[in-house]
Amino acid sequence: MTQVIKGDITTLKVDAIVNAANQVMLGGGGVDGAIHRAAGRELFEACLKVPEVRPGVRCPTGEARITPGFKLPAKYVIHTVGPVYRDGTKGEAEKLANCYRNSLALACENGCHTVAFPCISTGVYGYPIEEASEIAVKETKAFLDAHPEMEVIFCCFSEKDKAVYEKILNGKE
Ligand code: ADP
Repeated sequence: MTQVIKGDITTLKVDAIVNAANQVMLGGGGVDGAIHRAAGRELFEACLKVPEVRPGVRCPTGEARITPGFKLPAKYVIHTVGPVYRDGTKGEAEKLANCYRNSLALACENGCHTVAFPCISTGVYGYPIEEASEIAVKETKAFLDAHPEMEVIFCCFSEKDKAVYEKILNGKE
């Protein structure tokens, strides 16, 4: 099952919220900053403990890592790194699809039933919301077909983004 809401993802009492992190995984702006502020210092400490795969990279683009949610109502934070949007020909779509696939797989492995996503890459990383949401919905639907017990919430930060998701989910023009 999927749901679209407008809201602040840090307030959701779900099994896991997904963070649009960066490769270093030590906090940043946008939703990443909001999640770190709400979860508290312990989240930063837990992220520090995630091993680097190469200097400065704890989570390569398209992959996902999991930590507890600490002060958040959510049990876990799944950190994933979306692609920076250049012009759409640099593998952006596949990388963004990997974020959804890998985050959902990690949620499932950790026994999560309810998972909330922000609109990954559509802020500072510049991915057009219309294209990003198509990918988010397509990948999520494919995953849920195989895992019907899970529930995904698309947590949009604006009415505009929410309307874009609703249009896709309802198949309306
Ligand atoms: P990225 O670097 O992946 O583009 P951003 O954090 O800049 O990540 O933006 C991703 C999306 O998260 C944007 O749609 C932004 O409006 C949204 N966002 C920012 N803060 C929150 C929040 N507290 N809850 C949900 N979404 C948020």
